Amino acid sequence: MTPHSLRSNRSIQASICLTVVLMIGLGATAAAANPARVLVLATGGTIAGQASARAGNAYDSGKVSAADLISAVPDMDKLARISAEQISAIGSQDMNDKVWFDLVARIRAAIEKKEANGVVITHGTDTMEETAFFLSRVLETDMPIVLVGSMRPSTAIGADGPANLYEAVKVASAPESRGRGVLVVLNDTIHGARWAQKTNTTSVETFRSRDAGPVGYVDTGSIRFVQPAAAVRAPKLKLPDAAPLPRVDIVYSHANMDGAPIEDAVKRGAKGIVLAGVGDGNTSKGALEALAAAARQGVVVVRSTRVGSGFVNRNVEVNDDTLGFAVSLDLNPQKARVLLQLLIANGITEPKAVQQAYVATW
Ligand code: GLU
Repeated sequence: MTPHSLRSNRSIQASICLTVVLMIGLGATAAAANPARVLVLATGGTIAGQASARAGNAYDSGKVSAADLISAVPDMDKLARISAEQISAIGSQDMNDKVWFDLVARIRAAIEKKEANGVVITHGTDTMEETAFFLSRVLETDMPIVLVGSMRPSTAIGADGPANLYEAVKVASAPESRGRGVLVVLNDTIHGARWAQKTNTTSVETFRSRDAGPVGYVDTGSIRFVQPAAAVRAPKLKLPDAAPLPRVDIVYSHANMDGAPIEDAVKRGAKGIVLAGVGDGNTSKGALEALAAAARQGVVVVRSTRVGSGFVNRNVEVNDDTLGFAVSLDLNPQKARVLLQLLIANGITEPKAVQQAYVATW
């Protein structure tokens, strides 16, 4: 382990244990020039990744502390006064309800105490869209909340993290970002939490909003929103007092599919099942029968699609009214799952009410 990684690991542990708040770049000139305050909450991911000895391009997620990430970006103090806290230090493949609840608690405290004009969450890109969507469904605020990550670790040639972080702070501190809900910023592009989706395993141009387009663009000099802020907002959902959220499993449909994965999910105690269906959210006769049996037992069934874009329509190929299913419209399976967890936690399980909630989540 290099002295740098030792230092980074130590500082991550210290900041997690002691919840140390670091005030960075509080130069009198910068603070006076721009009074915006941004709270950076670090969770880990490639943006905090460091080269590993495993192989030429290998790296370990979540090794660089929030403070080190910020200090690596020149001129951040000219954008805003920044305070940084480490919430977790994980690759986002390990993202979980506990970190989500901790993020909500910290952001709510910041809102209540009027600590910041905006919040930036550094996060791995793998499940960033789920965290962004989750936060967008539970946080009641006009304050910009911006998730940011990178596709290349901080030690890579052409690391994209510093520019992404700079642009995320720029968006979070801008008055024109208020009232736009939770945003995702990567690769000079601003996405809404509802639509942002990782679409490429390695490219820096991975996030897309396929059914709606990005809400805007950002570079080091400007922010341009190209869509109006949403006029109608779906009602926010209550969060239970403590994690975990109810169990909802995603079942992936494919050729030669039978009902076994659905029966297994019910046996494991799933309260809801999201079908990552073929095409328009469809699946085989055997799987449909198993889903209908699950719905009759009170398991909430939502049909989504594995296709990656487009809307799943009710009662076209599958008779949802008869079988007691809801459809996710254009919410991908992983976001449809988050919404269903929250609905079940709020006691919304009747198929018509569940369907109405998916329609209202716009
Ligand atoms: N598995 C990592 C994560 O999600 C890699 C993806 C990334 O951060 O870009 O944290």
